[in-house]
Amino acid sequence: MSFITTRGGGCVTASQAMLFGLAENGGLYVPAMIPSISLNEIRDMAGTSYIKRASKVLEKYLEDYSENEINTALSVAYRPGVFDDNKIAPLVHTDVDTYVLELFHGPTLAFKDMALQLLPSLTRMAAQKNNTDKKIVYLVATSGDTGKAVLEAFKDTPQTECVVFYPGDGVSRIQELQMITTEGSAAHVIRVEGNFDDAQRGVKQALASQAIQDKAREANIMLSTANSVNAGRLLPQIVYYFSAYADLLDRRAIGLGDAINFVVPTGNFGNILAGYYAKEMGLPVKKLICASNTNHVLSDFFTSGIYSTQRDFIKTLSPSMDILVSSNLERLLFELCNRNAELLCNWMNQLNDRGVYNIGEQRLTAALNTFYGGYADDSRTQAAIKRCFQRHAYLMDPHTAVAYDVLEEYRACTGDTTPSVILSTASPYKFSGAVLSALTGHEPQNEFVSANELAKYTGMVVPESVKGLADKPILHTRVCRKDAIINTVQSFIVL
Ligand SMILES: *Cc1c(COP(=O)(O)O)cnc(C)c1O
Repeated sequence: MSFITTRGGGCVTASQAMLFGLAENGGLYVPAMIPSISLNEIRDMAGTSYIKRASKVLEKYLEDYSENEINTALSVAYRPGVFDDNKIAPLVHTDVDTYVLELFHGPTLAFKDMALQLLPSLTRMAAQKNNTDKKIVYLVATSGDTGKAVLEAFKDTPQTECVVFYPGDGVSRIQELQMITTEGSAAHVIRVEGNFDDAQRGVKQALASQAIQDKAREANIMLSTANSVNAGRLLPQIVYYFSAYADLLDRRAIGLGDAINFVVPTGNFGNILAGYYAKEMGLPVKKLICASNTNHVLSDFFTSGIYSTQRDFIKTLSPSMDILVSSNLERLLFELCNRNAELLCNWMNQLNDRGVYNIGEQRLTAALNTFYGGYADDSRTQAAIKRCFQRHAYLMDPHTAVAYDVLEEYRACTGDTTPSVILSTASPYKFSGAVLSALTGHEPQNEFVSANELAKYTGMVVPESVKGLADKPILHTRVCRKDAIINTVQSFIVL
């Protein structure tokens, strides 16, 4: 399978798409054709391991990797001990027709580990295939969870450095501590005086800057991104949609071919986009329910066909979804306009220049065959955490709770009783203060005190990786203005 870009041209191999991250024309790499998977192949996934399921899905995309290479990469990424559940992505039944797909069992307690743990092996193989001995410098903008997941995934990878920009007025204290206590000379963590959109814009500008790219070439450095615009992030995420379906078959909760819904707490549109690819491949999916917080650009888009960032950026209890420019939506739009790169470029230019574009009635109707958009503000998020815990003794983090609330609203509006899988994107302990205060109504306090309280309250244990953070020294204190990201990047390109 070769890869092309959403802004026209640029036919590259899968390994090249992974190495480059973002195309030079600013476009995103997408498979030249979305491969299909048969119901028989899906049936065969039931009763097998996560690694086997992943291998089946990924071999359809990673054409220039051998089966052996894919299996090697998978068995490193998902080896025992990395994820604290041997199912990797366990499916929990909470209610008659409701399931939670837990994607937070990796080392950094958020779903970003699912793809990022795999990226280093695939990238090292990609470098070999393309005969490059260049050092790779990853530029990362994080809304909270990507940063640590990248640092953790690449911590022992030679010839690789990671430069992470996180929004100073964004992330939770646990998220921040996870990043700024990272050891190793290849890890660089910088606090941006701004929000996630500022950080993402700065990183994209740096990658698109000819001057920076020239300087990198001279220094024998390849600049790339480990953000979800990298196809290497997208592909491993497709796997768990199939895995959830296979688990439902295993339990005889559904029959082969029955359609199900997925509900996804969404920010940059990477996670839910993987669900769209799964559906296009042939996974029986009725609706992909896109759940947003108060920054509900996406649910407005799915209501009106108009994408508009002309609004205030609002800090919420689900910081990893505090995003106004959802980069991966570009990949969905590419499909919605029948891969018309010229039309897509127009929309993206309008977004850049005026902060708004309109895809029109017809394309919106086509999108709504698959998607439903809804949102929950902070008070509904808190109520959902409490309601779900009281009813089902199941504790959710604020991001997952947004999805839970939107699913209930969707069911009330549509009467749809299709079995639905909520993607749980983070451990509740990563947001202990917010979760505890949703349960008790008390003001949030110190995160570590809250984590202990939460454990007492629920009879569970605090994950070791949260506990350990309290005593780790802070190693990264660099701050940068939002308009100085390019200069900061330059300082990391040295001979
Ligand atoms: C990144 C993240 C999201 C949003 O995922 P996208 O792929 O950006 O839509 C939601 N919840 C959590 C906890 C996250 O870390």
